[in-house]
Amino acid sequence: MAKQRAHRQKKASRTSRFHRFSKKQILVFGLLFATVGIIGLVTSFAASYPYDDAGQAKLPTDPTRGLVYDGLRKIKATAFWHPCHGGFEVKNVRAGNRPSCTHGPDPAPVGVDMTQPVDGLTTALANEQDATVFTQDQIPAMQKQAQEIVAAATTGLAPNSLPRTIPKCYGDGSDARRVQLLLVNTNVRDAATLSHMKSSLAITSERVETQVVMSSTTAGITSPNSVTRHIRYVQGTNCIPIVSQINMRARPGYDFTYADITAFLQVNGYNHSDRKYLIWFDGRTKICGAGSAYNDSSKESTNQANSYVGYAVVGPACWNRAGVELHELSHTLGAVQLDAPHTSGGYHCLDEQDVMCYADGVNGKTVNRKSVYVDPKCTKASLDLFLDCNDSDYFNASTTISTGSYIYQHWNTANSGFLGL
Ligand SMILES: [Zn+2]
Repeated sequence: MAKQRAHRQKKASRTSRFHRFSKKQILVFGLLFATVGIIGLVTSFAASYPYDDAGQAKLPTDPTRGLVYDGLRKIKATAFWHPCHGGFEVKNVRAGNRPSCTHGPDPAPVGVDMTQPVDGLTTALANEQDATVFTQDQIPAMQKQAQEIVAAATTGLAPNSLPRTIPKCYGDGSDARRVQLLLVNTNVRDAATLSHMKSSLAITSERVETQVVMSSTTAGITSPNSVTRHIRYVQGTNCIPIVSQINMRARPGYDFTYADITAFLQVNGYNHSDRKYLIWFDGRTKICGAGSAYNDSSKESTNQANSYVGYAVVGPACWNRAGVELHELSHTLGAVQLDAPHTSGGYHCLDEQDVMCYADGVNGKTVNRKSVYVDPKCTKASLDLFLDCNDSDYFNASTTISTGSYIYQHWNTANSGFLGL
């Protein structure tokens, strides 16, 4: 009897426990748990989804050519909400309230071995040869001389071959959007040497101004009705660009990455949304050149390339070579978008000759400084120092662009706020 009573009590107890919750309550709890589970799954998926780890594993790594990806994380092209989709997120660096993005490292010009140490002092001072300089009033004479140099060349030109142009003066020299020049040293230099390097690199920036002025008419061969563009440098007395010098602590035996250099600049206050920083890095690095790149081809002045900080880094082996300074700066200005007519798939173009065009290894193309297709108008190798030879992909300074064209309907770096008329 006692055993039966105990069994009945136990059964009753179970039943009453069960009846504490109504069926409706159980349904609500069930839905709640399911929702929490789904939110957890979606959150963890979204956190890991943008990273293209399989793509990262297949990158064409080659330190001798400067193709190193330390500090960069590949973002899937389909992760549309991520500002770096189709490119790389730079670890530990922000652009305002968002990740900082880059198109990754550009390969060094043929003949440059990035594993060999290079003294930035040597490459900086090599720029001073044949330093013919023109003022803004003398631009027609400068254009004539540059056109003759381009036309006479039978091979590609070094930037040193071009005449220098004193940049145009804008405002108070630092207002609104500007390209700011930085010399970042880990090599210890005395004050006189640093001063010499800074003035030599200012000469380089005057040749970049020449390249932009000449690109407004693509060295004189296309762009009807073009209006000349100039770089809005941070500038001082007589409009000369100012090179600011910053010391960075060396690490023996360590090669600094794009992420290291830009993170260092950011924590030191070089993080303004109205600045594109062109950085000559004087120290150990495998980087030939790398620049910020945002996946945004929208036409309006709100384009991300016009709205966020940009970092164009050039390693000492690539100073004053093959237009690397203008190449990286152009990336920060928004060239070449991934939907451009002649896109390489990796923020470059494939219709040579052009400072932004080369087969970059994306879309199955071989990694090379030279791409396969050469536009019939742009066959001269010397045009390789200038922007958008056929004015169709990222830079067109004409006032009469066809309204049906890609460049009319999308971002045109000639309209960048970092350039001026
Ligand atoms: Zn590039």
